[in-house]
Amino acid sequence: MACIFCQIINKEAPAEIVYEDEKIIAFKDIHPVAPVHILVVPKRHIDSVEDLKEKDRELAGRLILVAKEVAQQFSINKSGYKLVFNVGRGGGQIIDHIHLHLIGGWKKNAIRS
Ligand code: AMP
Ligand code: ZN
Repeated sequence: MACIFCQIINKEAPAEIVYEDEKIIAFKDIHPVAPVHILVVPKRHIDSVEDLKEKDRELAGRLILVAKEVAQQFSINKSGYKLVFNVGRGGGQIIDHIHLHLIGGWKKNAIRS
């Protein structure tokens, strides 16, 4: 069975999609850790940052640029936000389909933890 993010990409599982193009999709995280918590995901299944190859350079860069665009869409571009890749179990990665967390929208400045 396809991974949950592939199912969302194929519209076989529900998600609140906020951005979509030929190569990338972005949707709301079901367990948000902040007022804005979006996952930016390539449509091609790649397990993790550890599996990125040189040929994926453009796609990897696009993930950041799409995150920036979505930050603008949610009006958190001026206040600021975090972009996070969890990598592997030790890095807190639970879903083995590479994704970039866009997190923000706090009323006050985020405190480093
Ligand atoms: P990570 O720990 O980096 O693998 O993050 C996986 C994220 O995916 C978590 O923040 C989950 O809340 C989120 N998540 C898991 N399943 C879904 C889903 N079906 N739709 C939206 N977000 C999901
Ligand atoms: Zn997948």
